[in-house]
Amino acid sequence: MNYFVDERGYYGDFGGAYIPEMLYPNVEELRQKYQAIIDDEHFQAEFKALLKDYVGRPSPLYLAKRLSEKYGANIFLKREDLNHTGAHKINNTIGQILLAEKLGKKRIIAETGAGQHGVATATVCALRGLECVVYMGEVDIKRQAPNVARMKMLGATVVAATSGSKTLKDATNEAMRDWINNPVDTHYIIGSVVGPHPYPDMVAQFQSIISFETKKQLKEQTGSELADYVLACVGGGSNAMGMFYHFINDESVKLVAIEAAGKGVSSGFSAATTTLGKEGVLHGSRSILMQTDDGQVVEPHSVSAGLDYPGIGPQHAHLFKTGRGLYASITDDEALLAGRLLTQYEGIIPAIESAHAIAYLEKMTFKGGENVVICLSGRGDKDMETYMKYFNL
Ligand SMILES: *Cc1c(COP(=O)(O)O)cnc(C)c1O
Repeated sequence: MNYFVDERGYYGDFGGAYIPEMLYPNVEELRQKYQAIIDDEHFQAEFKALLKDYVGRPSPLYLAKRLSEKYGANIFLKREDLNHTGAHKINNTIGQILLAEKLGKKRIIAETGAGQHGVATATVCALRGLECVVYMGEVDIKRQAPNVARMKMLGATVVAATSGSKTLKDATNEAMRDWINNPVDTHYIIGSVVGPHPYPDMVAQFQSIISFETKKQLKEQTGSELADYVLACVGGGSNAMGMFYHFINDESVKLVAIEAAGKGVSSGFSAATTTLGKEGVLHGSRSILMQTDDGQVVEPHSVSAGLDYPGIGPQHAHLFKTGRGLYASITDDEALLAGRLLTQYEGIIPAIESAHAIAYLEKMTFKGGENVVICLSGRGDKDMETYMKYFNL
């Protein structure tokens, strides 16, 4: 079974590039050039140097002792929360900004939901001195004010998407429109393993540093580079794909992806795509998405803006359909409680997105001695207001 992209840009039934004809030249340029650029040794040297000295990699693999005692397994946390800008997203934006430079692009656009990808993009644009325009839903601009301020401080222009639900999917539509109008000088940095081929593969390769490091760190700490389980939360699926990437062909390693159930999968306020979704096309690729019978995208809900997305990347759809990955979901309440639990057991305040993965430990049963790696995708500073309201702090 092949779990990676084929030469047509597909993962089994999913993937491809379903784009308006006017986007074709941009996407085709990228498709033809991306792999050669990534494989170039100068590119790799520059990418690795920035990951080390600017992002602060390798991120630690931390054996969470008190959490391990509580659940009866060895729980390791892959500390993406310690990266510069506070999450895994910077791994991808560093990769893509270097790639944009090699393509001769002078202007960067991006879409953002929680604001985390916008901040990671504005950060690397400041780092390399490139113009940056970030599209963000009007509703998200209001609920993520500190991240909007960060982007502006970094010199980016933040443009409000005012159509539809005024959230992430509308921001994505606006960014695609911009790219159509500026095909020559502009690179579009997509923030997750979604979008037309080659984005899902390209973003997965940049995020694969997570599992590349994890294998080495597991080998040092346990004597084996393989874990029994690796877990990660899934919005579009980039931290999960980074966490899974180098374990995908190790069939003994169980890959567990946690989606946001919101107020509950049957509440009408959920983002549990694999449970509620059907096959279809969203944002340029064939995947699984939440949609009505006549194909209208259903509004997702999650307390964490980063998981509030109605689809998943095509590689995840393939891992789900083939059974290689286990896809589960966690409610808002369960995630918030797990966020507090991790904080009080280990002194680590997680992003609410990452807390979804922590919460899944409650649903697992262990014989004892299993090695479990959880991708702690980000830190919780940005979520303090939500935690404060929920716990009356
Ligand atoms: C954006 C974000 C996510 C969700 O995005 P993926 O592409 O699914 O990884 C998860 N955790 C944090 C901290 C984020 O910022």
